[in-house]
Amino acid sequence: MNDRFLEGRTALVTGSTSGIGLAIATALAAHGARVAVNGLGSAGQIDAAVQAVRDAGAPDTRHFDADLRDPGQIEAMMAAIAEWSPVDVLVNNAGIQHAVPLAGMPVAKWDDIIAINLSSAFHTMRLAMPGMAERGYGRVVNVASVHGLVASKDKAPYVASKFGIVGLSKVAALEYATAGNRDSGGVTANCICPGWVETPLIEPQIQARRDGGSREDGVRALLSEKQPSLRMSLPEDIGAMAVWLCRREAHNVTGTALPIDGGWTAQ
Ligand code: NAD
Repeated sequence: MNDRFLEGRTALVTGSTSGIGLAIATALAAHGARVAVNGLGSAGQIDAAVQAVRDAGAPDTRHFDADLRDPGQIEAMMAAIAEWSPVDVLVNNAGIQHAVPLAGMPVAKWDDIIAINLSSAFHTMRLAMPGMAERGYGRVVNVASVHGLVASKDKAPYVASKFGIVGLSKVAALEYATAGNRDSGGVTANCICPGWVETPLIEPQIQARRDGGSREDGVRALLSEKQPSLRMSLPEDIGAMAVWLCRREAHNVTGTALPIDGGWTAQ
């Protein structure tokens, strides 16, 4: 049985209709949080995600359907959530990838990746963090990547967006460092920086490395390039770290970029 230390708190997890976001949303629900789900998908996929979060322990979970490329839709979503329940835990997780060399990167992909992976976090943070400071407790958990700490070729907008969100989080950590106190838990802003995690996002990169072999051959080839553990993380491994960052005793963990990468960035 999980301790429900987030009872009475509300969390917004962007991009929680799939992958890491869905795992974080269910983990926060299992620890008592009320959860605002956000993300794209078919009606069936969205319903299944909301049901999974409800089943995990947050019966009044709702889906908020902002397309994060549009600041106007983000503002409307944040206003609707604030009316429902002010955000105590903000997880900026939504992200997309497009891997091609810089000179051939479609301009529209650059714009979308920067908007979804980086600018959406600026908008949600500027709208949610003042309320967190007033209440003395708040957690911003931004899902960056190892690509917020080191680069790889063919990922110009992705790497730029992830280095950007690491910097954005550090600024927020400094600006809100004195909000609240040790008993209330304070207001913190951190990044989690995963290496390879088993989700739909990386499937094209696995398929690109099959070289006529099986999917397992593609996974092995991908891991052997950069992740020394040769193991992918599970989405729920990232969910567990997000939950820990929400705990009161994490009040002094702020402005960090925490790798969960099997040694990738130790090299
Ligand atoms: P995923 O494709 O499974 O999920 C992405 C989520 O973002 C989905 O819910 C999708 O609907 C949402 N999304 C995409 N565009 C959106 C938009 N315009 N508006 C609203 N929501 C939108 O991917 P994932 O692997 O779970 O990725 C989640 C985060 O983790 C991303 O920021 C990604 O960069 C990061 N990450 C993933 C890995 C990995 O190996 N999977 C590694 C490091 C970092």
